[in-house]
Amino acid sequence: MPLQFADRLNNVETSAIRELFKLLGKPGIISFAGGFPDSAMFDVDGIREASNAALSQDPGAALQYGATEGFGPLREQLAHFMAQKGAKEVSADQLIVTTGSQQALDLIGKTMISPGDKVIVEGPTFLATIQCFRLYGAELISAPVDGHGVKTDELEKLIAEHKPKFVYLIPTFGNPSGALLSAERRKKVLEMAVKHQTLILEDDPYGDLYFGEAPPPSLLAMSASVPGSRELLVHCGSLSKVLSPGLRVGWMIAPAELLARATMCKQFSDAHTSTFAQATAAQYLLAGRMPATLDKVRAVYAKRAQTMGDALRRELGDAVEFVQPQGGLFVWARLTGAGGKVNDGNVFAKRAIDNGVAFVPGTPFFCANPDHATFRLSFATVGEDKILEGVSRLAKAL
Ligand code: PMP
Repeated sequence: MPLQFADRLNNVETSAIRELFKLLGKPGIISFAGGFPDSAMFDVDGIREASNAALSQDPGAALQYGATEGFGPLREQLAHFMAQKGAKEVSADQLIVTTGSQQALDLIGKTMISPGDKVIVEGPTFLATIQCFRLYGAELISAPVDGHGVKTDELEKLIAEHKPKFVYLIPTFGNPSGALLSAERRKKVLEMAVKHQTLILEDDPYGDLYFGEAPPPSLLAMSASVPGSRELLVHCGSLSKVLSPGLRVGWMIAPAELLARATMCKQFSDAHTSTFAQATAAQYLLAGRMPATLDKVRAVYAKRAQTMGDALRRELGDAVEFVQPQGGLFVWARLTGAGGKVNDGNVFAKRAIDNGVAFVPGTPFFCANPDHATFRLSFATVGEDKILEGVSRLAKAL
């Protein structure tokens, strides 16, 4: 008998990106396709020391079942980490630890989305969020972005028209857009949340990966200056991009009622995030290693981003346009078609593979009205020599 799967699976399909990843095994291929941090950046010694400390100080706690909300010392450390980044009023009991920020997104989907509910996301946005919210039956509405993030005037019109359940934004170095939402637009987002009484979900796994000046404060940190906005804000953070995605440590800060329901759903899902990973992360933060780690990864990624940007400008000229990223892992670019060159990201991606370089075309990142000329390049995992060689191959592929 054929298996009878749940109807909700009809809303999603396996990611086009996964198909592309199958081609990456080709020998000699240079990949700008991944969304990973560079594993050479992992502070292995620091994590080893932290896990040793977790096991020697309180092995019972580190290896036992734990509270669904998270391991107490880690919640304290994360509240402190957030305070250092400007969100000073966050206390440990206002955040729960999640299994990566991906689980926080899933918990929001579970607690907030009924089939047919409208949710506004950026066009483009994080592919797994599109899939996750669709799994819960959301009708996704795409808000346009430019080089400075979501266009707030357009966003406000969409909120007024659709009255969404919530709005999902990646304001700082978004995936895939790499864009940085200006302080002015951040304030507008918070003001419109209050005006329209709309919940805003801020996904912030990349905010610490800035290359020059620190970005404007997160929506969460800024909410202190916009009365009434804090109660309408959910913030998701993660150690994945700065420390290690394998630890699967993320967190979520949300209004108390939402947090209680999300905690209940998490209890039925994974009971709690690995106590061993949480105790290790807590020891790592407690040891004060994070600032040096951040300095190191920022410097390495900054150099790679600059190398890639310079090479793209030099080798591809006016055939592509992009905003030089100020942080994060990605260059989000657009083919202009100048000089009669290819102007479709999917066609370009296939030609690129034939020329020994891979990246992700932009269309899967849109929930509606895809811009076929777009594509995403990651500079994070490739050394500078390979970036130069990879961009030369891109120029050939064009
Ligand atoms: N949000 C965004 C925008 C991401 O790019 C990612 C990772 N690719 C995540 C959330 C999930 O990260 P994690 O679950 O590892 O914290």
